[in-house]
Formats: sequence, C-alpha cells, structure tokens
Amino acid sequence: VEPDTPKPIRKLTADVVNQIAAAEIIHRPANAIKELLENSLDAGSTSIKVTVKEGGLKMLQIADNGHGINKADLPLLCERYATSKIAAFSDLQSLATYGFRGEALASISYCSHLEVITKTKADSVGWKAQYGNGVLKEDARPTAANDGTVITASDLFYNNALRKRAFRSGSDEYARILDVVTKYAVHNPHVAWVCKKAGTPQPDLSTNAGSSTKANIAALYTQSLASELLEVPETVFAPKLGASARGWVSNANHNGGRKPGFLLFINNRLVDSSKIKKAIDALYTTYLPKGASPFAYLSLSIEPDKVDVNVHPTKSEVHFLHEDEVVDALVAAVEKALAGANVSRTFSVQT
Ligand code: ADP
Ligand code: MG
Repeated sequence: VEPDTPKPIRKLTADVVNQIAAAEIIHRPANAIKELLENSLDAGSTSIKVTVKEGGLKMLQIADNGHGINKADLPLLCERYATSKIAAFSDLQSLATYGFRGEALASISYCSHLEVITKTKADSVGWKAQYGNGVLKEDARPTAANDGTVITASDLFYNNALRKRAFRSGSDEYARILDVVTKYAVHNPHVAWVCKKAGTPQPDLSTNAGSSTKANIAALYTQSLASELLEVPETVFAPKLGASARGWVSNANHNGGRKPGFLLFINNRLVDSSKIKKAIDALYTTYLPKGASPFAYLSLSIEPDKVDVNVHPTKSEVHFLHEDEVVDALVAAVEKALAGANVSRTFSVQT
C-alpha cells in the first residue's frame, strides 16, 4: 500500500554515489582494459602487456614501462575526480590525453580488489599499494619493480552479484579484450603489445616495438588482407573543418566475411560512429560484391575545441562540429584511394 505521506528526501552517501558511478563506467572487463591501456599510453609507454584470467573476471593485469606514478600521489590515485591531466574546465578544450576526469581507477577500485605496483625513473625501488572503494588500504610498501606501472584488478564485480551473473563465459569477455588490444595495437604500432591468458606461455597477441600500422594489421588480422590494403594518405580537410584523416582500407578484392574490421580513432581514442560506419559501408557497395564487407582503419584528427569526445566516459559515440561535412570529406579521401587502385582489380572480382 502506498503511504499517504511522502517519505523524507535523503542524500546518498559518497560511497553509494561512487558505487553507482563505477557500475556506469565499468560494464565489463574490456571497459576496464580500455581505460587502463589508455592510461599506459598517456604515461608514454612503449611496452604494454595485458594478462587476464577468465576473461578478466577473475583477474586482469596491465604492465607498462611508462613514467610511473610518484609515491606521494598514491594516496589520491583511486579517489574519484583525482587526475594529473586537467586542472581547469577550459583545459578540456586543448586536451591531448585520453582520460581526464580521474574516474577510471576510482571506478575499478569500487568493483574489484585493485593492486598497483609502480616505479618512476627517479625511484630506486618500486612501491606496492592496495585499494578498495577508492581508498588506499595501508601505506605503500617498497618492492622490487621495473620502471613503469603494473595494475592488477582481481575478482571484478565481487560486490555486484547481478552484474557478475550477466557474464556467462570468460571466453566471450576475452574475445572482447583481445579486440580492444588489437585495435590499439594497430593504432599504436610504436608500442610492443602483448595480450595473453594467465598461465599460458604463448601470447594470443604480440607485436614488436617500432612496428608499422600495416605490419600490425597483417599480423593481427589476416595476411591475405595485408596484400589488399590501400593507404589513405594524410588528407587535410577544408580549413573550416579543422580536421584531417589517414588510414588503411581494403581494396575491391578483399571480402572481410566473418571478420570484418572497422577501426575508428578520433584524436587517438577508439570510438564508435554509426554515421561514419554507414557512410563507409555505403561507399563500398559500389566496389564489393553483395554481402562482402570491407576492412577500414581510419584515424581522424579534429581540433580539440571542435570535438566532444567522451563528455561522459561511457560514451563511445562521439560528436563534433560540421559532422556531415567531415564525414563527406572522409568518404572522399577513402574513395580516392579506392578509385586510384581498383582499375584492373575490380574486374577479376566481378567475373
Ligand atoms: P585520468 O586518466 O582521467 O586522469 P584515471 O583514474 O584513469 O584518471 O587515472 C588517475 C591518474 O593516475 C592519472 O591522471 C595518472 O596521473 C595516474 N595514472 C594512472 N595510470 C597510470 C599509469 N599506467 N602510469 C602512470 N600514471 C598513471
Ligand atoms: Mg585514465
């Protein structure tokens, strides 16, 4: 029965607020991996190694050789809205980094047991710290470590039975993690990447530092795709758009079939844009047989003050100024690469 008097309004405690935010930001292990590897890239790493157990649900770990974290910052590390990346709201308009709101580590610490081992070049020893619910549990302890940071999150969603039940198979989650790491490896070929299951000697993904985008696509997608790749050279769009693009796309001979690839980075961040995906697919319908699908890796750079990337960390769909014109210019750049290359080849496919 509905009470006939209103119930009192109360403020949620900070813990409950943070719990809700964490659940919003970290839906599944692959979200955590994306945030963590972006942090590693922000730290200037040239080696990033991802190790997981049960698709990251039991354990996910990311080890990098970046600049590390100062010991003095460890108490604040997992506190919500604690960041080294912006100080003022206006900083958002010239943002060149991945994260900025200081919510990733906080969120992960609210839904797992989090351990951080870190060492800066100036440190003579590394420091090990453990976190729960945003808080450093006890003073960091000295430990042997390489330069860089190792972050380990165990028992993801241990405190959220509902979320935990939503994951039926670790292998499905592992496939998602591998997909995220693969895409970042294509976009960041200067980094040596490894992704593996704990306890298996053979990594499922491994690249060399100083590789190239094309070589990584060949190694991580299919060798046959590699010979059908066309470069979309750096193309600067009309000045008013404040944007440029480059990438690699498949030619008319390639049919992605079961493994189509669509990799879109805007300002170095892996994002979704159904508008761009649709426009590229539409372009290829004139080049590919019915039912065939292309591969496209596209990297767009847009002046930071024209793009609204991740106003909220969970938003992977992005919006930017002059969207339709930018999409048209991007499609034109891809079409130019396709048109320049297809002359003799399309015929062999169509027969
Ligand atoms: P944000 O990236 O939005 O600042 P995070 O919660 O992801 O927030 O990280 C908080 C801070 O921790 C970062 O600003 C950075 O200073 C530091 N940090 C996190 N991961 C690393 C890492 N792998 N190497 C060096 N510093 C890191
Ligand atoms: Mg971050």
